[in-house]
Amino acid sequence: MIIVKTKPEIRDAVAKWRSAGKRISAVPTMGALHQGHLSLIDTAKQHSDRVVATIFVNPLQFGPNEDFKTYPRDMDHDLALLEAQGCDLVFAPEHTDLFAPDFSTKISVAGVGEDHCAVTRPQFFDGVATIVAKLLINLAPDLAVFGEKDYQQLMVIRRMTRDLDIDVKIVGSPIIRETDGLAMSSRNQYLSSSERAIAPKLFETLNLAAEIFLQGESDWPVISEWASTRLTDAGFSKVDYLNMTDAATLTHIVKPDQPARLLAAAWIGRTRLIDNIPASA
Ligand code: AMP
Repeated sequence: MIIVKTKPEIRDAVAKWRSAGKRISAVPTMGALHQGHLSLIDTAKQHSDRVVATIFVNPLQFGPNEDFKTYPRDMDHDLALLEAQGCDLVFAPEHTDLFAPDFSTKISVAGVGEDHCAVTRPQFFDGVATIVAKLLINLAPDLAVFGEKDYQQLMVIRRMTRDLDIDVKIVGSPIIRETDGLAMSSRNQYLSSSERAIAPKLFETLNLAAEIFLQGESDWPVISEWASTRLTDAGFSKVDYLNMTDAATLTHIVKPDQPARLLAAAWIGRTRLIDNIPASA
């Protein structure tokens, strides 16, 4: 596995493969890798001849009071996992490798990039769209793989690449969960053992709420209220949102008459968990 950190190195490595006719995929990550990330490598391998993973904790997507400084970092472990998974190349730049000192551009995706997570994290999707655009421009892959775990992010990236004519296929990959249903996340390591015991209630509650929704008797706001109370009763400290959305546009829906996605974010203590499930008949 090749490891590079500068833009000229990555461009050069990818150009060599391209001139040899190889199909190249990209898997952007912030490191602290787990089975969810590794499943994206598998998806990428199914669609391409060469897989490039990126590891960069992107400061643009963190708010001033968020966990940028404490976000888990373990490069040696990440590299070992990627190598074992059959990744071909890792792009792991430092901040100065990617950004000019007076970097000042921001990509903002209206519509799908608003609402839901953007309500409490207003900088988040601009930060994601901007870094992903930079990575895609430097790697110029045939396709890039993103997890459905971050469903709104996946929609933002699809819209951004389409709107900016970035010639890349965006492939969504299914959510990987622990055996008790908790969606794998680098931030799960923040949970204490008592918080970890509560965490699967999020997925459980989403499933119950979606089941009630699909019966069609109650409107979503009523079910959402019930689900929110169920979570706080279970020990969640705060529910940011439980939104039933059109699966493509992420606009709010009330009744089960179109393909839907239930999106959620909730806090246990100081840890914010997100999850989502399809909710279609
Ligand atoms: P992150 O390192 O958290 O920014 O995530 C990098 C990529 O891994 C994103 O495309 C995420 O959606 C994806 N990802 C993270 N957790 C999971 C999971 N449990 N299942 C599937 N994909 C995931």
